Amino acid sequence: MPTSVADAPRYSLVVPIFNEEAVLPVLLRRLDTLLDSLDAPAEVIIVDDGSRDTGSIVAAARARDDSRYRYLALSRNFGHQIAITAGLDVARGEAVIIMDADLQDPPEVVLELVAKWREGYDIVCAQRVSRVGETRLKLWTAGLFYRALRLLTPVDIPAHVGDFRLVDRKAVEAFRAMPERDRFVRGMFGWMGFRHVAVPYRREARAAGRTSYGWSKMVRLALDGIVSFSDAPLRLALWLGSIVSVCSLAYGAGVLWQAVHNATYVAGWASTVVLLSLLSGVNLLMTGVVGLYVGRIHAEVKNRPLYLVGRSVGFDDREDVVRPLLRGPAAPARLGAG
Ligand code: UDP
Ligand code: MG
Repeated sequence: MPTSVADAPRYSLVVPIFNEEAVLPVLLRRLDTLLDSLDAPAEVIIVDDGSRDTGSIVAAARARDDSRYRYLALSRNFGHQIAITAGLDVARGEAVIIMDADLQDPPEVVLELVAKWREGYDIVCAQRVSRVGETRLKLWTAGLFYRALRLLTPVDIPAHVGDFRLVDRKAVEAFRAMPERDRFVRGMFGWMGFRHVAVPYRREARAAGRTSYGWSKMVRLALDGIVSFSDAPLRLALWLGSIVSVCSLAYGAGVLWQAVHNATYVAGWASTVVLLSLLSGVNLLMTGVVGLYVGRIHAEVKNRPLYLVGRSVGFDDREDVVRPLLRGPAAPARLGAG
C-alpha cells in the first residue's frame, strides 16, 4: 500500500538512471515487490542523469502516481557518481540504499543489507562474489585497479565492492559534508570509517539495455579513485627523479673516466639519445602526473555547484522549484533534507 510522502520513510533507495528505458518496467516491478517486503515505509528516489530516452517519462509518471517514488532529473548527464550524490542530498530515510538501475544489483539483496543495519552497522556494502555477464577484460582490469588502489592509498576501500550499499543517516550526513568535486563515492565512504560490514552477493548480468560505462568513463573513475585518495603518484616523481639523476651522475662519471684514460674515446650517439629520451620521457610523465592534481585543484577552485536540477516530481512545492542546487563549502545545499 502506498505510503504518503508526509510519513517520513525509514528507508530511501537511490537509483540513478541514464538511458534505462529497456530495464525500467522490470525495475519498477522488482522495486514494488521490495517496498512491500521491507519492514517500514520506504521511498525510491530515481535520479535521472540526463536520460535522452522515454525512461524519463516512465519514471516521472511513476513518481506522479505513486507517492513512494520521487523523481529528480539533473539538467544534463553529470555522471553516475554525481547522480548518486544528488540522490543522497534529497534522501530522507534513516538508512539510504544506493543501487544501480539495471538489476545487476538484485533488489532482494537489500533485505540482507537492512538486516545488517538493524544489527547496528553503519555502512553495509554488498560485495560481489561472482559477476555474471561481464567480459574477462573488465573483470581483469577491475581486479588490477582494486589491487593498485589498495597499494597506493591508506584508505580502506574494500575490493569487489561497488556503490551498491546501505548507509546510515550519520554516514549520509558525513558524505554531504564532503565538498569535493571528484566524487569517488566508494572511496569517500571507505574514508569515513564507522562500523562497516560486507554482505556477499552474486552480481547478475544486466536485465536489459547496455552499459553506459564505456572505457573512457571507467578510466576516469579509476583516475578519480587514485588521484583523490592517494598522493603516491606525486611521490613517485621524487623517487623516479632521484633514481634517474643518480644513474645519470654515475654514467657521467664513467664517461669522464673513459675520456681521461682513453684519448681516442668517441662520444657515443646511442647513449646520448637513450639518455635524452629517457629523461624527457620521465619529465613528461611526471608533468602529466602533476597536471592530474593541478587540474583537480582547478576544478575545486572554480567552486561550481556539483550538479543542477532540471525537474523534479514528488517533492513538495518549495522543493519543486526548478533551481540550481548549490552545494559545497560556500553554499551547502539543503533540498529536501528535512
Ligand atoms: N549511470 C548514470 N550516469 C551515467 C552512467 C550510468 O546515472 O553517466 C547509471 C546507470 O543508469 C546505472 C548505473 O549508473 O543505473 C550503472 O551504470 P552501468 O550499468 O552502465 O555500469 P556498469 O554496471 O556496466 O559498470
Ligand atoms: Mg550495470
